[in-house]
Amino acid sequence: MRRPVLHRPERVRMDRRRTRTPKPRRPRHQPRDAPYEMKRALVSRDGHHCRFCSIPLIRPEIRKELNRLYPDAARWTSPRASDQHRGLQVLWLQYDHVIVHSRGGKTSMDNIVVACAACNFGRDRYMLAEVGLRDPREHIRTPTWDGHTGWDGLERILPQNKRFCRGTASSLWAGGGSRACTE
Ligand SMILES: [Zn+2]
Repeated sequence: MRRPVLHRPERVRMDRRRTRTPKPRRPRHQPRDAPYEMKRALVSRDGHHCRFCSIPLIRPEIRKELNRLYPDAARWTSPRASDQHRGLQVLWLQYDHVIVHSRGGKTSMDNIVVACAACNFGRDRYMLAEVGLRDPREHIRTPTWDGHTGWDGLERILPQNKRFCRGTASSLWAGGGSRACTE
């Protein structure tokens, strides 16, 4: 007796390249850190003050120069807080995303303000409304103290600015702003 020939169903080869459902493209995440040119523009716009609490600040470049000039007095030897001069921590100029970066905030002039470390780290990943803060972009603090309006962030100690400055280290700390160093 002849056995019936069983025809196997023909295997249909699936072309995965054609049948795969395309995944929606995720928007490219912006880098968190603002480029150097943007940081300069932010300081030029906001000045050397925290946009939240108004305390005077210095850029990290100034802190590095201070540390180079006075390594013992202006100590900043590692990322650990215990290796950093407390005063320099308070003066630390930072760039804060108003709409938090991890929650979709853009790295743009519109969304970043100059801030101190306490305001920046203190708010952490929370939105302004979640911690009861006003939007610093909506108001400008009007300083009335001369020491505030004259504060130049010690920019004059940078080597490229020093040609305008006569005097000693003590005069740098005496205040008076850049006018005191202009010939
Ligand atoms: Zn602040």
